[in-house]
Amino acid sequence: MVDIRISLTEEQLALKKAVAELCKLYPPSYWRELDEKREYPEAFVQELTKAGYLSVLIPEEYGGGGLGILEAGLILEEINRSGGNAAACHAQMYIMGTLLRHGSEEQKARYLPKIASGELRLQAFAVTEPNSGSDTTKLQTTAVRHGDVYVVNGQKIFISRVLQSDLMLLLARTTPLDKVRKKTEGLSVFLIDIRGPSRGLQVRPAAHHDQPLDPTSCSLTTWRFRPTASSARKEKGFSYILDGMNAERILVASESIGDGPLVHRQGGAVLQRARRLRAAHRRQPGGCSSPLPKRTWP
Ligand SMILES: Cc1cc2nc3c(=O)[nH]c(=O)nc-3n(C[C@H](O)[C@H](O)[C@H](O)COP(=O)(O)OP(=O)(O)OC[C@H]3O[C@@H](n4cnc5c(N)ncnc54)[C@H](O)[C@@H]3O)c2cc1C
Repeated sequence: MVDIRISLTEEQLALKKAVAELCKLYPPSYWRELDEKREYPEAFVQELTKAGYLSVLIPEEYGGGGLGILEAGLILEEINRSGGNAAACHAQMYIMGTLLRHGSEEQKARYLPKIASGELRLQAFAVTEPNSGSDTTKLQTTAVRHGDVYVVNGQKIFISRVLQSDLMLLLARTTPLDKVRKKTEGLSVFLIDIRGPSRGLQVRPAAHHDQPLDPTSCSLTTWRFRPTASSARKEKGFSYILDGMNAERILVASESIGDGPLVHRQGGAVLQRARRLRAAHRRQPGGCSSPLPKRTWP
């Protein structure tokens, strides 16, 4: 087994401590209450945004923290360690990576400072479809240019946080599969403003939806939008979107690392309570003095 040790700098340790302090204002009871009411953790996300923690990956020149993936991971790890749910807002950190690496200068200047300040939320990406999951290149949503607008037709499922986003990244096919050399070609990524009612774009909770964070379905029927400057650099959408997803995988893993100690702590408390209950049960007249019989499954 390889022993990998990561030693943190004083700044990184201070960052972890500061995030932990902020999270103390949002104890497990806050999250449980939201869970019962099926509500989005708006107050927590606002405070995290104000403190600049969701914009650490945005370069300083665009108003972000100019930090790296390690610092971003430490922040999310600390949120989950405290009992919070970083998945409510983690995408605000990394979806902008596609825009940062592949957007036009005009787009970056227009959107990144607003994403950094939280004025705009970019925390939804629409890739998965009913007939294409892992096999992304088989997606069937098309975006066809008609003069100065794109007309989109298709359906997306499992789209997280779309109801809490102002902007969305959409992956659609702009050249048919049988007209491209490689199946990863001919896909384009669009940055789209989804605020306000929009004819043709229908967002509706999935059938099993019972939480505000459950992924949602989007129906795109002859949906028209005006392309922004970046659409000129289309057709390489597959690799553009993967640039954002690579960061996602690392950051989600950080959250799971934060979940570990929490589950251990909470699990220990539940076990102790169960042991106390069993001891009390044994002490009662007629109580069972032998261990509970093993359950057998048919
Ligand atoms: C909580 C949640 C949030 C999500 N949020 C979003 C979102 O915001 N935006 C978005 O676009 N999508 C989102 N998704 C969708 C997610 O990315 C897809 O579930 C994923 O792409 C897998 O697709 P699928 O479920 O159709 O599984 P499939 O692609 O059908 O795969 C099923 C199983 O087969 C395996 N498999 C597939 N292909 C192969 C192969 N070639 N070789 C070996 N094994 C294979 C897979 O690993 C998997 O175990 C979300 C999903 C969940 C559960």
